[in-house]
Amino acid sequence: MGKGHPECPERLAAIQDRLIAAGLWDYLLHVDAPPALREQIERVHCADYLDDLARRSPAVGTVQLDPDTAINAYTLRAAYHAAGAGIKAVDLIMSGRAQNAFCAIRPPGHHAERARSMGFCFFNNVAVAAQHAMDAYGLERVAIIDFDVHHGNGTEDIWAGDPRVLMVGIFQHPFYPYSGDIPKGSNMHNVPLPRASTGQQFREAVCEQWLPRLNEFAPEMLFISAGFDAHLEDDMGSLGLVEADYAWVTRQLMKVAEVHSSRRIVSMLEGGYELSALGRSVAEHVRVLTGE
Ligand SMILES: [Zn+2]
Repeated sequence: MGKGHPECPERLAAIQDRLIAAGLWDYLLHVDAPPALREQIERVHCADYLDDLARRSPAVGTVQLDPDTAINAYTLRAAYHAAGAGIKAVDLIMSGRAQNAFCAIRPPGHHAERARSMGFCFFNNVAVAAQHAMDAYGLERVAIIDFDVHHGNGTEDIWAGDPRVLMVGIFQHPFYPYSGDIPKGSNMHNVPLPRASTGQQFREAVCEQWLPRLNEFAPEMLFISAGFDAHLEDDMGSLGLVEADYAWVTRQLMKVAEVHSSRRIVSMLEGGYELSALGRSVAEHVRVLTGE
């Protein structure tokens, strides 16, 4: 993205460092992400959009696609691998080789609409993965859970009105990308929270709004847009979550997956820009996913 941009490579290093420090690293199965196939991405993005991205991808330097989203010679390659991570995770889980997966990926995806990159996102990774689960394995109901501080406008754009998908989201509002307060479909359960909302308010919203909706929908697989920028220490947003809240919400989602989804969860990194808080939050999220 260019020097000084918050969506930086050090984010993944911070996650790795913290997983090692927490004693989790050696306990996990690590799998490299192959690139997604173009046809797998085309299931949720327009062909014209993919062509346009390829055309604007520079041989050297960076090109701004919007005021905060830049593309360089390596961006699309990384984006294909980020989307491929979710596909690989679905395959590992559906073949019984893993119960759940966390994809430590960049660039993130939930702002990417069917035909538009924005907010550091190019391909909607979680949408590509969930579409793969439906197409390759015949799943008929999947849930997307998004707890990034920003509304997942891209995922909503792709799936609003699709009865196979339930999306539940909690995000700061009013705030970038200034959408989500009026859901675009009845399958979109959006919970806007005012700035300075606490972990307690987040938990109440999950219990009162997400969990009844998820249990009623009975998804066959859960996909988490796991952004950690609602952390108290992350000044990208102004919510007050801490590591314990991420552990708690992960535990609630594990319970939903245990009842309805044969424990199948694919969690994919979205935001989270304060490096220490990001590492600590992901470590708690992953620790709970391991069943600890
Ligand atoms: Zn975010």
